Amino acid sequence: MSGKISFFKSVENYVDKAASYTDIPRGLVEQIKACNLVLQIRFPVRVGNDYQVIEAYRVQHSHHRLPTKGGIRYAESVDQDEVMALAALMTYKCALVDVPFGGAKGGIRINPANYTVEQLQSITRRYTTELIKKNFIGPGIDVPAPDYGTGPREMAWILDTYQAFRHGEIDSIGCVTGKPVTQNGIRGRAEATGRGVYYGLRQCVSYAEDMAKIGLTPGMEGKTMVVQGLGNVGSNTALISQKEGGVKIIGVSEREGSIQDLNGIDVEKLLAFRRETGSIIGYPGSTHIGDALAALEMECDILVPAALENQITLENADRIKAKIIAEAANGPITADADPILQKKGIVILPDFYINAGGVTVSYFEWLKNLSHHRFGRLENRFQTNAFARIVSKVEEMTGKTITDRERELLTRGGTEIELVNSGLEDTMITAFDQIRETLKQHPDIKDLRTAAFVCSLKKIASDYISMGIFP
Ligand code: GLU
Repeated sequence: MSGKISFFKSVENYVDKAASYTDIPRGLVEQIKACNLVLQIRFPVRVGNDYQVIEAYRVQHSHHRLPTKGGIRYAESVDQDEVMALAALMTYKCALVDVPFGGAKGGIRINPANYTVEQLQSITRRYTTELIKKNFIGPGIDVPAPDYGTGPREMAWILDTYQAFRHGEIDSIGCVTGKPVTQNGIRGRAEATGRGVYYGLRQCVSYAEDMAKIGLTPGMEGKTMVVQGLGNVGSNTALISQKEGGVKIIGVSEREGSIQDLNGIDVEKLLAFRRETGSIIGYPGSTHIGDALAALEMECDILVPAALENQITLENADRIKAKIIAEAANGPITADADPILQKKGIVILPDFYINAGGVTVSYFEWLKNLSHHRFGRLENRFQTNAFARIVSKVEEMTGKTITDRERELLTRGGTEIELVNSGLEDTMITAFDQIRETLKQHPDIKDLRTAAFVCSLKKIASDYISMGIFP
């Protein structure tokens, strides 16, 4: 928890504001806002000759759809308020992008850098055991995934622990997502959040009339971008925006500080430089401009805070000069800083929309796990043959032939990564257009965050109503 308002309370305030633009009954709004289950865990881990008490949580925010879904983070900032807020954001996120899950989140209050791999493994396995004991994990109950400080390795440990206890459960591989591809994961999951940020941004900047209002031309090509945080989300957003969108990355920050190069930074080379030297400071051609927060204040078209929450606050909001902010992290802007940015005319793409790519592809992974076969296995060959017959017929009728390469492109079925990325692209485009449409229908709503909450609330409320709980 930071500042005066708790993170969870600030999410509640956003929801209350959005609810005032709907006719959802007050009691139903209260039910939607409430955290349904909060599990607080303490267990020991042996460090050297002593023991440490590990503080951990799993929160299931909403059971209006099952299973519940959300990552597990390993960070020193973890406390009950943070996990509750993040679980709530998952509920609104899933509803917004039509992923049919309730929201959840887990957290362990540790800095993983302070532990050996063996210790991390025993912490992860013990945490999973606690979840199993309390019936807080399972493919139809609650499905964790990676978040800040965790990745495919931790998910593999969770799966292995779960399967040891649930031997023979046919859908057990769907108990966790974000697994390594070799362990029933799905291609494209690792970069999904960053790729989703890119698709969301690309859709946002595609509307010429919206861009004109903030003095920009439509399209990603040539736009300047500053990224805070080179973890999974920040690095993939920067890489994909640079490679596929022709975006110029002019500033980057990490915990060791901020660098800038107005001529553009090659992200791939910067990542290699950091792997080698342990820091981004000193990267050839760049200038060191200050601490981890300094880059946030650079003049740029797009600012991507992709680290932790509470980065843009009352203290620095006035000095933010970006035209668009994509909240790749969860909660990077505090509730009191938000109106200051809005007054400055900055377009904010809210976290629970712009970082929804991760959970979207987690959903695809879960579907793949439950179907027990890879996407396309049944239909790919059939489609290829059908397309090949159409191509032959066209050749026969026109008297012309195409090259083998052209034939292959026209007739082959999609690979797993192509199908995943197209599903993700479609999801991010559809959700943005829904938010934009809501904004148009409610001229009194001025920001995308409120409009996005309105979209989510309406969908969740209609789920509750169709359950017959609120006739
Ligand atoms: N931790 C990610 C998020 O905050 C992904 C959650 C998931 O895949 O379930 O959205």
